Amino acid sequence: MQPQRYDMFIDGESRKPAGGEWFPTDNPYLGTPWAEIAKGTAQDVDDAVRAADRALRAGPWAELTASARGALLRRLGDTIAANARHLAELEVRDNGKLFTEMYGQLTYVPQWFHYYGGLADKIEGTVPPIDKKGYFAYTKKEPVGVVGVITPWNSPLLLLAWKIAPALAAGCTVVVKPSEFTSASTLELVRLFHEAGLPPGVVNVVTGFGQDVGAALVEHPLVRKVTFTGSDATGRRINEAAARDFKQVSLELGGKSPNIVFADADIEAAVNGAVSGIFAATGQTCIAGSRLLVQESVHDEVVGRLVDLARTARMGDPMDEATQVGPITTPAQYAKVLDYIDIAREEGARLVLGGRAADRGGLFVEPTVFTGVRNTMRIAQEEVFGPVLAVIPFKDEDEAVALANDSRYGLGAGVWTTDIGRAFRMADRIRSGTVWVNTYRAVSYLTPFGGFKDSGIGRENGIGAITAYLADKSVWINT
Ligand code: NAD
Repeated sequence: MQPQRYDMFIDGESRKPAGGEWFPTDNPYLGTPWAEIAKGTAQDVDDAVRAADRALRAGPWAELTASARGALLRRLGDTIAANARHLAELEVRDNGKLFTEMYGQLTYVPQWFHYYGGLADKIEGTVPPIDKKGYFAYTKKEPVGVVGVITPWNSPLLLLAWKIAPALAAGCTVVVKPSEFTSASTLELVRLFHEAGLPPGVVNVVTGFGQDVGAALVEHPLVRKVTFTGSDATGRRINEAAARDFKQVSLELGGKSPNIVFADADIEAAVNGAVSGIFAATGQTCIAGSRLLVQESVHDEVVGRLVDLARTARMGDPMDEATQVGPITTPAQYAKVLDYIDIAREEGARLVLGGRAADRGGLFVEPTVFTGVRNTMRIAQEEVFGPVLAVIPFKDEDEAVALANDSRYGLGAGVWTTDIGRAFRMADRIRSGTVWVNTYRAVSYLTPFGGFKDSGIGRENGIGAITAYLADKSVWINT
């Protein structure tokens, strides 16, 4: 069968790439290409950014009232809800994650458009009490400008929504560069948005590779803000390039999140939380609880129960609702995960589960657990982005805090305890953007999400996220 071909979406219409080239996108479960994606060029980026700039300044989008903009956003949310299954299937075909997870995300994604749609007409200025006689001043908030949006492959549309829902609510226009591994769902979503009445030029998509279209987008002079989710290596490059032209950035980067089990915890709940914390999405989430810190007195019990539970995880077809662990998304990521397993062994960590490519074809790696890990080891400090758990024992609360914070990352952390005082103390002392107590992985459009330290700059979600797409202006009048 001929693979389906996807063009880009620029200025409200489907657009062939200026260079006339397409590249294959693979199904990681089958290991075969299923579609061809337009290979964008700097010329396509320029066309898209100019279309976004025109839409920002004049025409149907610029003329919409804030309330009408909000109503349109809510309609876009409804469009996603009506197409959730179809969009989830596209994501699974591209990234190999479980259909149950991607469909679950897609049924939640509309909330971002409903929530930020509701905020669109609540963006208000102020009238400061001016301390100079004969003057009146007021402030207003304006869209920051054209936004470059760069997304990764692990949750393409969820992470896209975190960015474009507040950006559009603020009145901005955007050019999206999805991951080269998972472009299809973004292209399909934006096509559906236009069917639902989104004016041309407001959301444009240029597909292709990071080093060419991604870099060209970040460097384009008409882009005034870049919002990025991906690895810290790429985030650093983007931050440096954006700084040269004083562009604003929001960066959601990697993590090495500690999941901390105290002896007073509900051990069964903690073990379930530890297993889903690392093995959900085959470990390919920025918030993976990849360091399990366990208080010494319950260490052996926790490890024993965890290994028993993880051993039963069913690997297989991500479309099958009984599957619990799917494949790794890309061959490069697969090789990286296996390399880290070797590194952990060489560092002297003790392998107690898995540790191999699964003997079943496709990009599968067995759920893997190492004990005897010291926090200085690379397996405890570097992001693997795969199903590999490093277990580290600790004595007391102070040591748990010290180990948790001894990381260049600070994205998420889990605390398992039945002591309410300890829960509050740990939440205060851990340097991470989110702390979960007796749960793990909960996120919502209502609560800010982002990282301390190398995990990023800025926060997404919640009321505050819209301010990342707004610029204050002061107006003075000599009365
Ligand atoms: P990546 O950094 O390789 O790629 C992300 C995006 O950046 C892709 O679209 C890519 O094409 C683009 N890109 C690459 N080089 C570029 C350049 N020079 N200029 C502009 N764009 C460029 O990341 P990935 O492998 O797709 O995703 C995995 C990473 O994302 C992990 O490190 C993970 O922790 C992180 N992540 C973070 C969050 C979060 O919210 N903090 C969420 C999911 C994933």
